[in-house]
This record gives sequence, structure tokens and C-alpha cells, in this order.
Amino acid sequence: MEGKLYVVATPIGNLEDITLRAINVLKEVDIIAAEDTRHTLKLLNHLEISKPLISYYKENEKTKSDVIIDKLKEGKNVAIVSDAGTPGISDPGEEVIKKAIEEDILVVPIPGACAAINSLICSGFSTKEFCFIGFLPVKHGDKTRKLEEIKEETKTLIFYEAPHKIMDTLSVMREVLGDRNIAVAREITKIHEEFIRGSISEVIGVIPEKGEMVIVVEGAQKNKKDREAESLSSLSLEEHYKFYEEKGFSKKEIIKMIAKDRNVSKNEIYQKFI
Ligand code: SAM
Repeated sequence: MEGKLYVVATPIGNLEDITLRAINVLKEVDIIAAEDTRHTLKLLNHLEISKPLISYYKENEKTKSDVIIDKLKEGKNVAIVSDAGTPGISDPGEEVIKKAIEEDILVVPIPGACAAINSLICSGFSTKEFCFIGFLPVKHGDKTRKLEEIKEETKTLIFYEAPHKIMDTLSVMREVLGDRNIAVAREITKIHEEFIRGSISEVIGVIPEKGEMVIVVEGAQKNKKDREAESLSSLSLEEHYKFYEEKGFSKKEIIKMIAKDRNVSKNEIYQKFI
């Protein structure tokens, strides 16, 4: 029988941020595939776990995935871990998971720390809908293009960034997205954890260029038309109708406008008014 592939989240700083289930899985699997075996060894020593390790990092992801799949086919259970947090989130993992699914091998998530989610929830911005972007391209032109692509996005945006690039990235963001409100989550779960909140200009003025950071950016403001449609949609149909009627529109025009505001078919609105 084939083994199972466990995708195990590990701490992003504080070593206590690992679940009991994750510890048990790491104890029970036959092999652990790690992004950096030396790094993972420190965690395993702390947990008093000794296991055969396979290195699995971005540059050898494709070839090492085949090795891992062979082990799974031999019936071995394998856990995949990255240096910190959730594998596959701006970390290796995607490749072996895809291959395992293609081979009908069971893939089991073992949830835990993820810098993106924990930064988002304490950012103070909307958590209803969000967009994870991860690392922006390094080259100035590519970085600008990527930000141009998403500048109209009204969902909260989440970026990962290295400390030595934070100033450049924040100033390109200010240029392209405008001086929006952001929250930079620094060193979360560690001793010097802090959230620096404010406009991009305010944050640029105080942020240290060290430590691990996540930039959470408030989504773009909806344009006036969208905001109007949204507030009209919260009215009852009768109130909505009256709003346009008082402005002197004909019944036909009103039905058309209500359907557009509510993003439904004209017929649906028409039926309700018969
Ligand atoms: N897979 C990881 C996860 O689940 O969050 C992310 C790995 S990615 C290579 C590393 C980036 O995550 C860092 O550059 C930083 O942006 C963010 N990060 C990781 N740990 C963090 C922490 N303790 N505080 C703030 N950001 C962190």
C-alpha cells in the first residue's frame, strides 16, 4: 500500500507554535522532506525527534519530487516541511503535492503557522476577502508592472518582503498604489514582534530595515459608482424603486438600473414588480 504525504506547518519564530498533531506526525512518518535539513534538524532536536531527512528546496524541487513519490509508492509515509510556516506558501511544496495527487497518493494537511494569515488578522483591514501576492519581483520594472496589475483590487493585499528591500518596495507601492494605509507585521511570534500601522509615508518614516516582515495593504477604495450601487442594493426593492422614481425615471429605466445595481437580470426585477 502507498504511503501518505503529510504537509506539515512548523513555527515562524516561536517554537511553541507547533501543534500536537504536527509533532505526532513528525514522530510517526518514515521520512521528513525538508527545505533546509540543517534548519529542520534544529527543530527536530528541540522536539527530540530523529528521522531520515531528504532535502527538498526550490532549485531541486522537480527531481526531488520524483524521489519522494518513489518512497511514497514503496509504502513510506513522508512529511514535507519548509524552513518556517506552511509549505507551499512562498515555499517549496507545490510540485510534490501536484505529483502526489496525479499518482492518487493521499495528501494530508497538518495546519499551523503562516505569516500571511497571522499578519492579515491583526492588520485591522478587511479579512472578508483578501489577495495573497507573496514576494514581488525584484527588478524595478517588473515590480511596478505587478503593482499596476493589482492597483484596482479592492480586497486586502498581502505581500512578503525581505528587510533589505522593504524601503524600495514601500516607495514603489506609494508611487503606484497611492499613499494607502498599510500594516507591516514584523517579527511576528518572536520577542520583538510589532505591527507598524499607518499610511505608507508614515511607515517609511519609522520602519527598521531588519527582521522578517509582511506588508498588508488596504484594498483600493471602490469608485463612487460602485459605492452608490452597493448602498442602493442594501435598500428594499420598493425603496430602491422609489429612489429612481423620485428622480423622474420611467418604469422601464428603473427596472434596468435596479437590475444593474443588484447584478441580477432585468427579468428577475420585472417579475417582482408585476
Ligand atoms: N511559508 C511561510 C509561511 O507560511 O508564512 C513563508 C515563507 S517565505 C520564504 C518567508 C517570508 O515570510 C519572509 O520573508 C517574511 O515576509 C514572512 N515571514 C516569515 N516569518 C515571519 C515572521 N515571523 N514575521 C513576519 N514575517 C514573516
